[in-house]
Amino acid sequence: DAKSAGRNDFRFFTPDMNNRAYARLMLENALRHALEREELELDYQPQWAMPGQRLIGVEALVRWNHPERGRISPAEFIPLAEETGLIQSIGDWVLHEACRQQAAWQAAGLPPLTIAVNISALQFRRADFAGHVRQVFADSGVSPSHFELEITESALMQPSVETEAQFASLRKLGLGLALDDFGTGYSSLSYLKRLPLTRLKIDRSFVRDLPGDPEDAAIATATLSIARDLGLEVVAEGVETEAQRDFLLERQCAVMQGYLFSRPLPATAITELLASQAHAPA
Ligand code: C2E
Ligand code: MG
Ligand code: MG
Ligand code: MG
Repeated sequence: DAKSAGRNDFRFFTPDMNNRAYARLMLENALRHALEREELELDYQPQWAMPGQRLIGVEALVRWNHPERGRISPAEFIPLAEETGLIQSIGDWVLHEACRQQAAWQAAGLPPLTIAVNISALQFRRADFAGHVRQVFADSGVSPSHFELEITESALMQPSVETEAQFASLRKLGLGLALDDFGTGYSSLSYLKRLPLTRLKIDRSFVRDLPGDPEDAAIATATLSIARDLGLEVVAEGVETEAQRDFLLERQCAVMQGYLFSRPLPATAITELLASQAHAPA
């Protein structure tokens, strides 16, 4: 652990450590410039209303096209962005870009689509985050009513009176509020009561071993049932197989997202999906 490592300071001077520290520093520097060099991009993963499998929303997922390393996963650079504080400007860019894309889809006369945007715990803890979000929407001229913010449970480790107030303000703007990775964090059921949530996203770790794993089957079934009783919509994440889909369908899961239906796609591919759906018979 860190403490025992601290007593054995020589550990920090192994060539391996120096290389890793150097690699991290290089990545951090590159990330600082990624925004101005326009290396960030949003992909969009479709969310489908079931059972008819109608495209009703997309989750915006940020990608970094590093000049030498190629595409770097957000699982790698979002934590780095959080440690360095760059998450605030990256988060701003993501929200602006999602608004710009929504405006473009609306201007093209395509059927309405809800865009879900991931919000890091650190963005959420910024003073007057809700006021900031209101300003971004005002500047971009799109209505918040076709947007949803996804906040992970771990972001809510100690939900305070301020958290409740932020949620209430965001909800008042007309934004949907989804609890991401539901079941993996520290939340207690009382958050479901205290926060004005609109959706729960069943984490893909509970979907992966459906329908065979009895614990996951029980957790997924219970989540769907409690959400229904609380008037919340459920999105199942990471649906990869027909057997998973059918299990969730039998339990009236209203919205699904996963590789079975589609991977995250560039905006142009979403435009095509929307256009073909607009022309399909109902
Ligand atoms: P998340 O919000 O839980 O997003 C879902 C992740 O699951 C995405 O990974 C998506 O590509 C992946 N996924 C979707 N369907 C399937 C499936 O059927 N099977 C499997 N194995 N995976 C599936 P991605 O794009 O690598 O993003 C990873 C995480 O990075 C996200 O998890 C989110 O926490 C974070 N992230 C992504 N974009 C942003 C962003 O703009 N802002 C912030 N703060 N975090 C972001
Ligand atoms: Mg998410
Ligand atoms: Mg998730
Ligand atoms: Mg996740």
